[in-house]
Amino acid sequence: MARKPFIAGNWKMNLNHLEAIALVQKIAFSLPEKYYAKVDVAVLPPFTDIRSIQTLVDGDKLLLTYGAQDLSPHDSGAYTGDVSGPMLAKLGCSYVTVGHSERREYHHEDDELVGKKVRAAIKHGIKPILCVGEKLEVREAGGHVDHCHSQLLAALKGLKAEQVREVVVAYEPVWAIGTGKVATSTDAEEVCKALRGALADKYGSEVADEVRVLYGGSVKSGNIAELVACDNIDGALVGGASLQAEEFTKLCALA
Ligand code: PEP
Repeated sequence: MARKPFIAGNWKMNLNHLEAIALVQKIAFSLPEKYYAKVDVAVLPPFTDIRSIQTLVDGDKLLLTYGAQDLSPHDSGAYTGDVSGPMLAKLGCSYVTVGHSERREYHHEDDELVGKKVRAAIKHGIKPILCVGEKLEVREAGGHVDHCHSQLLAALKGLKAEQVREVVVAYEPVWAIGTGKVATSTDAEEVCKALRGALADKYGSEVADEVRVLYGGSVKSGNIAELVACDNIDGALVGGASLQAEEFTKLCALA
């Protein structure tokens, strides 16, 4: 089955409000509509920029989509500082990253919480971009495939096959994020193929063929083509390189 490539730009906690608007305008200008027939593109700004981006996207009928970097597992209530699925849905978010290694590391998010967030996103019609990935010591000990496999299945626990179709999986080896060290395409494909295999075993090959599996970790315009040439890599979750309009649009055009 041919899956449409998908590039998502994770801005992390970068850019002020005006810079965010300017970046979306530059991306829209440099990536004309014809590209969207070949690649889906999303930006994942900080919460504070989402409303402005919604206004730009809706106002100019842009084909660019957008989403958030996290959501609460709860719909509403006394959860100071959190942002819920219904709030993101109201802002037109198509995607939300869940289980990013920075959330796992700095906010101590475990697989159980990541699973709740995946379910919260799906409940509100937002596609979760579920991040899994091993630390360097796990890879060096040869446990990377098992580690990612177990993070994936733990986060999808309790979902029906129909719901798993909504999930985007991102394999992000922790040692490659923001370090400039990109996994070789062979290493990335090994894990992405194993993750798709795990989906096929548990939810059937039709679902596994449909789910997009991305690679993330120091992706740039210079390495995207080799990565997406792999059978099981359907695009990328891009951090640093998504903050520069020229580099990001080049990368999208090459995907
Ligand atoms: C990320 O944060 O998801 C990421 C992949 O970052 P970078 O591209 O900067 O390594």
